[in-house]
Amino acid sequence: MRIAVLKERADGETRVALTPETARKFLALGATVAIETEAGRAASYADEAYREAGAEIASATEVVKNADIVMGVQAPEADLLEGARQGALVLAIFDPFSRRDRVEQFAARGFEAMAMEFMPRITRAQSMDVLSSQSNLAGYKAVLSAANEYGRAFPMMMTAAGTVQAAKVFVMGVGVAGLQAIATAKRLGAQVSATDVRSATREQIQSLGAKPIFVENVAGIEGEGSGGYATEMSEEYRKAQAELVSSHIAKQDIVITTALIPGKPAPRLISDAQIATMKPGSVIFDLAVVQGGNVEGSVPDQTVTKHGVKLVGYANTATHLAADASALYSRNLYNFLSAFWDKDAGKPVFDEEIGNAVRLTQGGKVVNERLAG
Ligand code: NAD
Repeated sequence: MRIAVLKERADGETRVALTPETARKFLALGATVAIETEAGRAASYADEAYREAGAEIASATEVVKNADIVMGVQAPEADLLEGARQGALVLAIFDPFSRRDRVEQFAARGFEAMAMEFMPRITRAQSMDVLSSQSNLAGYKAVLSAANEYGRAFPMMMTAAGTVQAAKVFVMGVGVAGLQAIATAKRLGAQVSATDVRSATREQIQSLGAKPIFVENVAGIEGEGSGGYATEMSEEYRKAQAELVSSHIAKQDIVITTALIPGKPAPRLISDAQIATMKPGSVIFDLAVVQGGNVEGSVPDQTVTKHGVKLVGYANTATHLAADASALYSRNLYNFLSAFWDKDAGKPVFDEEIGNAVRLTQGGKVVNERLAG
């Protein structure tokens, strides 16, 4: 099996799908590994380190030639894969709902596209879950970026010149990113509170030493919610949540929003009128800015100041920690392929539960259930 890794082509993408560490692991499985020149540079992995690990370094055309497996962070355009074997596996984040055209092109060329973001959220697949590995780092970076924009300190400090008050941080949305945001803000010494619509998160918030702030008079989502995900809330719930947020947010210095609903635009959690109640110098980091934004007025990759409050949010947060994000992403890919590696066949043979969930195209057709119709 020849595994090929290309340099990322997407604007602002600094990650890479293979690190020297995972190159070694793939070689130990019996595969050969080829990576495009300087593919790891933006993530601080030098060509020399890949070469030492045993990988071949070459141009895109040479790397892809006769490849059985191509790995990427963001899916490459099908044209770049000219020369790969018929039926080659392509593992990447495909964004298949917005880039249906690319999925069709992969089908037409006979490639087997595997969308890593479709990994099912089951215990067995946790180590293969790229959304979790990247969101965890994003939650951490959101807090650090907000801290950086904030003109005050996070921890309480008693100094000879007087006391510095601890920052008050409010995390909205307690999934993978939100939990890491809480943990990071706590480590920096902030006073942390958090909210979610799923009732199971209340205990998780408390277990991290933060204060849960929940809508009490209207029922939210029981337990974990279906598959651990939230749905759109009723008008009544949204009204109660807006009132709760209005009374809480005015007392906060930093707000980190992470709320997402699968297949829908991000829910709007903070209005311009609510921003106006916050103290000047406060910072809101909107992790959902690209999915439509939790915060009115936030713009990807820009610091917008509204009523003296800074609104921040990155178009692609994980690219701001490219080295670790790449290390975890490439381990996710390795964990996925190695779990299904059939020693006799010398290649991965997927099962239905995971294989069918992530496979977009096969045998010239679009085969994924989520893309049917
Ligand atoms: P997500 O990115 O889809 O959403 C982030 C959070 O926003 C969620 O907690 C959601 O409930 C919350 N949210 C949505 N609408 C909201 C609103 N209006 N107000 C406040 N909060 C709102 O979530 P995620 O990070 O992908 O995690 C979802 C769940 O899946 C978690 O329970 C997580 O533990 C679980 N999970 C399981 C696995 C696994 O078992 N393999 C892997 C990853 C995540």
